[in-house]
Amino acid sequence: MQTGKINVQTENIFPIIKKFLYSDHEIFLRELISNAVDATQKLRTFSRLGKYKDELGDTSIEVLLDEKKGTLTVRDKGIGMTADEVDKYINQIAFSSAEEFVKKVKADDKANIIGHFGLGFYSAFMVSDKVEIYTKTYKKGGQTKPVRWECDGSPNYKIEEIEDKSRGTDIVLHINDESKEFLEEHRIKEILDKYCKFLPVEIYFGTEKVQEETGEKDDDGNPKMKEVERPRKINNTEPAWTKSPSDLKDEDYKAFYRELYPATFEDPLFHIHLNVDYPFNLTGILYFPKVRQNLEVQRNKIQLYSNQVFVTDSVEGVVPDFLTLLHGVLDSPDIPLNVSRSYLQSDSNVKKISNHIMKKVADKLEEIFKNDREDFEKKWDDIKIFIEYGMISETKFYERAEKFALLKNTEDKYFTFDEYKDHIKDNQTDKDKKLVYLYTTDKEEQYSYIEQAKEKGYDVLIMDSPIDSHFVNQLEQKFENSSFARVDADVIDKIIQKEENKVSKLSEDEEKKLKEIIEKVVDTQKFSVVMENMSETELPMSITQPEFMRRMKEMQQTGGMTMMGDMPDTYNMVVNKNHKIMSEVLETEDEEKQKQIVNQLKDLALLSQNLLKGKELTEFINRSVNIIK
Ligand code: ADP
Repeated sequence: MQTGKINVQTENIFPIIKKFLYSDHEIFLRELISNAVDATQKLRTFSRLGKYKDELGDTSIEVLLDEKKGTLTVRDKGIGMTADEVDKYINQIAFSSAEEFVKKVKADDKANIIGHFGLGFYSAFMVSDKVEIYTKTYKKGGQTKPVRWECDGSPNYKIEEIEDKSRGTDIVLHINDESKEFLEEHRIKEILDKYCKFLPVEIYFGTEKVQEETGEKDDDGNPKMKEVERPRKINNTEPAWTKSPSDLKDEDYKAFYRELYPATFEDPLFHIHLNVDYPFNLTGILYFPKVRQNLEVQRNKIQLYSNQVFVTDSVEGVVPDFLTLLHGVLDSPDIPLNVSRSYLQSDSNVKKISNHIMKKVADKLEEIFKNDREDFEKKWDDIKIFIEYGMISETKFYERAEKFALLKNTEDKYFTFDEYKDHIKDNQTDKDKKLVYLYTTDKEEQYSYIEQAKEKGYDVLIMDSPIDSHFVNQLEQKFENSSFARVDADVIDKIIQKEENKVSKLSEDEEKKLKEIIEKVVDTQKFSVVMENMSETELPMSITQPEFMRRMKEMQQTGGMTMMGDMPDTYNMVVNKNHKIMSEVLETEDEEKQKQIVNQLKDLALLSQNLLKGKELTEFINRSVNIIK
C-alpha cells in the first residue's frame, strides 16, 4: 500500500466541489458514465486496429446500486488503468482540471455558470464521502497488476495492488448523507434516462420483467409465455440520427420521434436529417410539429447532445429563436459544452451552426414546396406561424422564405407572394397607384365586411395567426408601394379609393341635422360618427376600426410594442348618407320615432361587429320582437 497527497495548489477544493452547483449534482453520473464510454470505445478501437488481440467479449457498462452499503458503482470493461496511469490521470490530470474548475467558479459570478461544466471524475466528490477505483488495464506484462485507489475527499489518497479484477474499471461511490437520493433506484433511473438514453455503449441498470416464449404451445396452438427477469438496458446505442438517411424510412423517423417524446401522440409533419462534417461536425434530426396557437408550450423540445451524451434541452442561443419551436436532436462535438451559456452564445462555432441549421430548414421547406406543392399547401396552416415567425425575426430566413411562403384567401386558395400580387394588382390598385391588400382576422365575425369587399370584386386574405399583426406589418415594409387593411378598417370605397367621391344626396344643412340626431343616440365617447358618401345599396350604418391603431394595439399585446396597449379601442360609426332610410329619418317629424330608427340601426351595426352585449342586446331583441308584432 502506498499513500500520497494530491498536489494542492490552492486551498482544499473538495468542500467547494461538494457545495457547488447544488441543483446540478446529478451530472456526476453523466461524467462517470462518459468516462466509462470513452474507456470502452478506446478498447474497441484498439481491437479493431489489432492493438488489442484478446476477445473483446462483453463490453457493456453496468450501474450497480447497493443500498445496504450505501454505494453506487459504475463498472466498465474498457481499457482500465495501470498504477502509473491512475497516478497520472487521476491524481494529477483529473485533479488539475478539478482545480481549474474551482478557479473558474471563483472568478466568474455564479449567474454566469448556469451552463454545464465538465468537472469530470472529481464531480464524484459532490455526492460522496469516499470514492474508490478498482481498475485493471487491458495491457499485458510489466506493471499491469490491478490496483485499488481510494480517496475520502481530503487531498490524501491511497493506492494498492490487488489480486482479483477483470479488465476495466469500477468507480465505487460511497454516497454521503446529503446525497441519499442517489441511492434510490428510481432517481438513478431518471438520471440515466435523461443523460444516457442514446449513448453508444450498452448500459445496464437493475432488472426488468418481460414475457418470453417458453418454446411450448398451449391447447389452442398459441406459444406459451413465461415471465423472466433480465438486466434492464437503459439506452438505444444506435439512435436514428447516427444512421444514414438512406437507411431510414419515414416510419423509422416517426418511431424515433416517439422514442424522443413518449408522451406525444401526434406525428410530426416532416423531418430534416442533418449531416454536416465541414466546417464543423453536426448531425441530428429536426422535426416540424404542428405549431399550436400557444407557442410557449412547444419550446425547448430540441435536445442537444455531444457524441450521444445528452447536454441540455435548452437550445436558446444555439439555434435562432424561431427554430426553438422545432423538435428533435442536435449532436455536435464542436459545440463547447463545458462552458457557461453566455459563452456558448458568443461562440463563433455556435453561430455558424445556428446559421447552417436555418439554411437547412429553408432548403427543406423549399424542396417540399417545389416538389410537392399540394402537400406543402396541406401542411401550410400547421407550419405557417413558424415560418411567419422566422420571416419576422431573421432577415436571412425572410430572403429564403419569400419564395415559398404562402398567402391564403377566404376561398381557401393558396398563393405565393408573387402570384398574389398578380392576382389582385388590376383590381386593387387605388387612385394613387398603391396596391391594397385586404385581409380578415376572422371570417365569421367580419363576414359582412368581406361580402362588401367581394361585391366590388376584391380578394380577401385570411390572417388569423396570433402573430399576424406583426407579419402584416413586416410585409407592408417589404412590399413596395403596398398597404394592408383589415376589411373593417373603413368603408370599402375608402380603403381602396378609386375615383373622387360620389355626390351627396343630402345638403350640408341636412347632413348636419342628421349627424346631430345620430350623436344623440350613439355613445360618442366610444364612437366617432363619420358621415360617408356611399352607394345606396350599402348598409345605412356600420362600424369600422381604423387599421393603424388596431394593429399597433394587437402588436403590443403579442409583444414588441410599447404604450399602445393601454389605449382604448377606437371605432368609427359610419353613416351612409345616401341610404334611403337616412332621408326618411330626416323627414320624420316625431323625434321619438327618429331616435327609435337610429337606435335600431346603431344596434344592428354593433351586432355585426360583435359589440352588442348584455343589457343592450336584450333590449335590442325585445324591441325587434315588438317591431315584428
Ligand atoms: P476527462 O474525462 O475530461 O479527461 P476526467 O477527470 O473525467 O477528465 O478523467 C481524467 C482521466 O482519467 C481520463 O482522461 C482518463 O484517462 C482517466 N479515466 C477516468 N475514468 C476512466 C475509466 N473509467 N477508465 C479508464 N480511464 C479513466
